[in-house]
Amino acid sequence: MSENKIALVTGANKGIGYEIAAQLAAQGMTVVIGARDTQRREEAAKALQVESVALDVTDAASVQAAAKEIEARFGQLDVLVNNAGITGGSYATPSQIDLDIVRQVFETNFFGVIAVTNAMLPLLSKSPAARIVNVSSTVGSFASMTDPNSPLASLPASATYPVSKTALNALTVQYAKELDGILVNSVCPGYCATDLNNHGGFRTPAQGAAIAVKLATLGADGPTGSFFDDAGKVAW
Ligand code: NAP
Repeated sequence: MSENKIALVTGANKGIGYEIAAQLAAQGMTVVIGARDTQRREEAAKALQVESVALDVTDAASVQAAAKEIEARFGQLDVLVNNAGITGGSYATPSQIDLDIVRQVFETNFFGVIAVTNAMLPLLSKSPAARIVNVSSTVGSFASMTDPNSPLASLPASATYPVSKTALNALTVQYAKELDGILVNSVCPGYCATDLNNHGGFRTPAQGAAIAVKLATLGADGPTGSFFDDAGKVAW
């Protein structure tokens, strides 16, 4: 068993994932960044002085190959941050939505998380203190979306991104229920300026990364099956 901790961050060649990787590496972990775009991934790994693996979370063969490579190179995993995510474009009302776009968004934000998590579970189970962090969003919170006093309630109806994050939150709960000894939580990084929102966010990606790092480095008595942002627990 490795003495130093091994972390995989998906979608970490830019944006919030890049900063999660940087902050975990700064804590002394061996960080592996996974993403599709090879050039950006290699440049990010070089800049951060971390490891990298080719990973398309929507491609079963790519996910299996990444798990094999991590097993061969590191033997185990202590932290998995499921950060890769897409919006599917602008808000698209349920009545007007192109089903193919809903499927694409779910392939990455929901099915991709199951594929990666299940492929990495044998490696995570070798860790004495494994942590899984699912990078979600408060736009996936039922409580926020249905509370007329929440600023999020005024967002336009959409059947893509917010629904995928609601499903992701449900998945967090179910994995937490199943997995003994592995703490599994959802986090919301807040509205951060990244390519995802054409840099419209008012927080930095580094600020957004901090909550994921906090949940990735929880002590043994830490929570599981919960949802957090910088302010604390988020209502589902
Ligand atoms: P971003 O800058 O667009 O980065 C997204 C990352 O995901 C990229 O590294 C991208 O790399 C990767 N990715 C996309 N599809 C992938 C796939 N199929 N396989 C592997 N990697 C894939 O977005 P971000 O804002 O940092 O978002 C990161 C996470 O935070 C997402 O889950 C997002 O939903 C969540 N979030 C963001 C905000 C915000 O305000 N920015 C707010 C709440 C939640 P490649 O394209 O090279 O693969």
